[in-house]
Amino acid sequence: MSEVRGGVYPFCKACTASSVPWRTPDTTTGLSGRGTRFYGHRDVCLDCGSSVRTLFATFLLVPVSRLGRYRIIKTGGRSYVGRLVPDQPMPAPVKSATAEQPPPSEFKNHPELVDANYEQAEMHWAARDSAGALPLYEKSLAACEKVLKADDPATLQVRLRVAQVRLAIGDYGAAIPWFELVTPQLVRVFGPDHKLTRIAIEAITGAQLMVGGPREEVQLLSELLTHDEMLLGRQHPKVLRTRAALGRAHMFADQLTRAIQVLEMTLADSIEGLGADHPDTGVYRGRLLEICEQATTRGRKKDRELANAARRRWALV
Ligand SMILES: [Zn+2]
Repeated sequence: MSEVRGGVYPFCKACTASSVPWRTPDTTTGLSGRGTRFYGHRDVCLDCGSSVRTLFATFLLVPVSRLGRYRIIKTGGRSYVGRLVPDQPMPAPVKSATAEQPPPSEFKNHPELVDANYEQAEMHWAARDSAGALPLYEKSLAACEKVLKADDPATLQVRLRVAQVRLAIGDYGAAIPWFELVTPQLVRVFGPDHKLTRIAIEAITGAQLMVGGPREEVQLLSELLTHDEMLLGRQHPKVLRTRAALGRAHMFADQLTRAIQVLEMTLADSIEGLGADHPDTGVYRGRLLEICEQATTRGRKKDRELANAARRRWALV
């Protein structure tokens, strides 16, 4: 797996900058006759080989409505990865003074955390040696999590790096759960427009595109979970992280009943393993609520009933 720092793999820097993350929909044409199809082939990029295509909703293979323009790279057969090309030119990111100012960290009160690991890791990372950087970042993260809160700004920055390194070495099964966990924490602590939050959102979309659709993601995370659960037990932070990501992949694959069940299990184990007030437990509670809201608005009767029961059980509002 080659590394791409300038753009979101496999797109080049320029193509990444002129497009936004887009989660590839499940395009299997159902019995209803509805589907989607790309037309046209413009602005071929010589750097990454992507081209701009227009997506139409189809009925019995006849295009009926235009859904938008996407920058597409074929990845063999009928599969592809894509990014949305906005119809309006992309506005420059809004720079608000407060958004870029990091919230106070407890880091300065823990001089023992200033060790060589993080600095050395950054050097390996800058030199594109991700494999060399990974164990150093992990050591640094373990030290941070021992004394700082899981969503302390300092911890979050190391967590994000661990996720980025996992992505850079092509370990999507580990990268996706990490990004799924830290993105809501980054949004809450740094704000939705902060550079670090944007990095995480770009990266997770890139990782999900590389895996394929939500069904492939469910497959990948399920296999990983079976393996890790046997090895580490149900309440290990890694197992919790993977299971929460699996629940969300079920949601995107339109398997809402399964999504609710998986997230309820994650939340119960997280309360028991990490504690009800742990920041990660807070993320899992938020994810369960998100799925319940999806089930309420677009689920079948059974999904809605399950969502209502879950809301009552966990006092979700
Ligand atoms: Zn390109």
